[in-house]
Amino acid sequence: MKCPQCSKNHHYSAGPICKCGYHFILSPKEDLKITDNLFHAIIRRASGNQTIRYTRTQLYTASYRLKELRRRKEYKRALFTTLICFSLMVLFAVLIGTSILPMGAVVVFFPLGIFALISTLILICSPFFKTKPHYFPAWENTLRQWTAAGQSIPGLLTNPTYQDDSPTPWPENDINSYGINRILLCDSTELVDLLTLNGFHTANGCLILTLDDYPHHVADRALQSLNATPAPDVFLLHQEDNGEFAKQAAQFLPEQSAAKIHDLGFLKTQTQSSKFLKIMSKQISPLTPDIFLYPNLSSLLGRAINSLQTIGSLATEAERKAYQKSTAHDPILIYETSFWSIDWDSDDDGGDDGE
Ligand SMILES: [Zn+2]
Repeated sequence: MKCPQCSKNHHYSAGPICKCGYHFILSPKEDLKITDNLFHAIIRRASGNQTIRYTRTQLYTASYRLKELRRRKEYKRALFTTLICFSLMVLFAVLIGTSILPMGAVVVFFPLGIFALISTLILICSPFFKTKPHYFPAWENTLRQWTAAGQSIPGLLTNPTYQDDSPTPWPENDINSYGINRILLCDSTELVDLLTLNGFHTANGCLILTLDDYPHHVADRALQSLNATPAPDVFLLHQEDNGEFAKQAAQFLPEQSAAKIHDLGFLKTQTQSSKFLKIMSKQISPLTPDIFLYPNLSSLLGRAINSLQTIGSLATEAERKAYQKSTAHDPILIYETSFWSIDWDSDDDGGDDGE
């Protein structure tokens, strides 16, 4: 395993302390096989290299992404080895057949053939094991080990940021510099913090709050604007459900308000039609919108607000388009797209997969 401090390779059998003095926390022998170096890469991915705030669920998504990326790399390496073996086999067969090499060369030919056969079998079988690793409880355990060792996870959202007596989350001149075009109602304080601390409210001209009036100072402004004419549109963002949150949100509106409500999701019927969401819903239930890393979530949400579609349906659409685009160009990507998800280009971030 690689040392995150000195970048040198350290043998597991040499104990948990590197020559440079770094004390390893995680063991590659445990269920998820997450090393310290990989954990740092996971934090970098979730935090966009320390530029964005993120939730625990997003940290999990980042780990899932990196594991997938590694698995694909391993697949490509295996494919390459198999191709080399088969090419050599063909070459040997031709050389023996044309008597350039004596029949005795079959001794070399045989083990090569067996090796090629085994690696082909592994290659063919590998897709059947693709969803095996990565379970949420094991991940929670990894997280606990990391924090118990006194290591920080910079940028991770923990407690609600805006308590009743806390100052406004933005300077006064900022709040006046954008108009309130919309109101975004969330079902958790964590979602409000995630979007507000990353500036989604200013970029999209919306007030973001929960039905419990969190944050308090935003709730007053929301009520004022809902009673005004014309009233801003109201958008809903919540965990996977069958429309329960929308019913609660309808009661949140003042009776005389003319505001329209648009539910952006998650809706249970739609999460099952996206491959990525379907895989994730087997591990986290109910699914929350922060299953998407922030750059994906903010772009999905921005598009959902503007096109009045749910984020679930946009996720499915993005997967379909990505599949069509890749199959039209390079046949090798057909295999890759079977694992494709909404994460359009984050697998290409300079190869930072913690290796
Ligand atoms: Zn070291």
